[in-house]
Amino acid sequence: MRILITGAAGFLGSHLCDRFMKDGHSVVGLDNFITGSPDNIAHLIGNPRFEFVQHNISQFTYVAGDIDGVLHFASPASPIDYLEHPIPTLKVGSLGTHNALGLALAKNARFMLASTSEVYGDPLVHPQPEDYWGNVNPVGPRGVYDEAKRFAEAITMAYHRAHGLDTRIVRIFNTYGPRMRPFDGRVVSNFIVQAILGRPLTLYGDGSQTRSFCYVEDEVEGLYRLFERGDANPTNIGNPVEFTVRQLAELVLELTGATSEIASLPLPEDDPKVRQPDITRARQWLGWEPKVELREGLVRTIAYFRGLHDQGRIAV
Ligand code: NAD
Ligand code: UDP
Repeated sequence: MRILITGAAGFLGSHLCDRFMKDGHSVVGLDNFITGSPDNIAHLIGNPRFEFVQHNISQFTYVAGDIDGVLHFASPASPIDYLEHPIPTLKVGSLGTHNALGLALAKNARFMLASTSEVYGDPLVHPQPEDYWGNVNPVGPRGVYDEAKRFAEAITMAYHRAHGLDTRIVRIFNTYGPRMRPFDGRVVSNFIVQAILGRPLTLYGDGSQTRSFCYVEDEVEGLYRLFERGDANPTNIGNPVEFTVRQLAELVLELTGATSEIASLPLPEDDPKVRQPDITRARQWLGWEPKVELREGLVRTIAYFRGLHDQGRIAV
């Protein structure tokens, strides 16, 4: 197959490129580098099965030749990124998704949308099954991301129903691992980088809010299976083991051996209090569940960031 991946120079997009290429497929990676980095795909440049297009998917997009699959992963994803780029975030979720769907339709390709657990907002149902409609504040600071993704889901279903396009919607829950940006603001990268630099760990609120962290290798395997053998219904892909953010901070201190203190900062507006995927659907239909426990995934991620630090690629 020849697969187009938008957001290919990002954290998840670059791992997806690797996953498809590992199975012998060809990949066209598309990215405008708004939050991604050429470093993430540097190892693929020169491979005859990899092509790269620097382009903003929110603008008209033409790709020559046959395409069998379009995976739309382009979007700022970290809260600090989408707060810094509110309008590009809304555009890539709406106009960008429309363009990616149009391309898939023109090429008669399968389409997969990277949606998010944020469509559940600050959830009133816990854990979150796919048939929960969510509790989102459309006009709060996170609304630019959440509502863009909710629109993206709606237009994906409309293309499925109106045009018969073969579509997938994956609701991704907090994923971490190598190739996250050191200062992307997400909690795992923040805590690890802070610990490595001997700085205080920035705990927002009292740290009792929960998240369920999925190691990137598990996540990408779930995405791959959903693309191959899933259906059009939204599917949660994430790790169902829930931790408080304070527990995460303590685990990072233990695993890095850092003596940093834990500093309390204000909780950001509309920060969800709990989050845990119900993955019954993925288990039943894809035979998928995560294998890498948080402790093990953190050890691997710490090794990655230590490597960057040793190469002088984490600016102090
Ligand atoms: P990322 O910021 O590392 O990657 C996103 C990539 O998209 C970047 O390389 C960026 O430059 C590119 N991009 C953004 N807007 C673009 C545009 N208009 N045109 C072309 N390229 C553009 O983030 P990520 O964590 O890899 O997230 C990838 C996708 O997965 C996003 O759609 C995100 O919403 C979704 N997601 C991720 C997580 C997670 O935990 N990582 C959770 C839920 C959903
Ligand atoms: N968080 C924190 N310290 C940080 C970054 C994040 O305590 O330095 C908290 C944040 O308030 C949230 C959780 O960690 O409750 C996860 O934040 P992240 O930005 O990784 O993703 P989110 O799940 O909020 O999209």
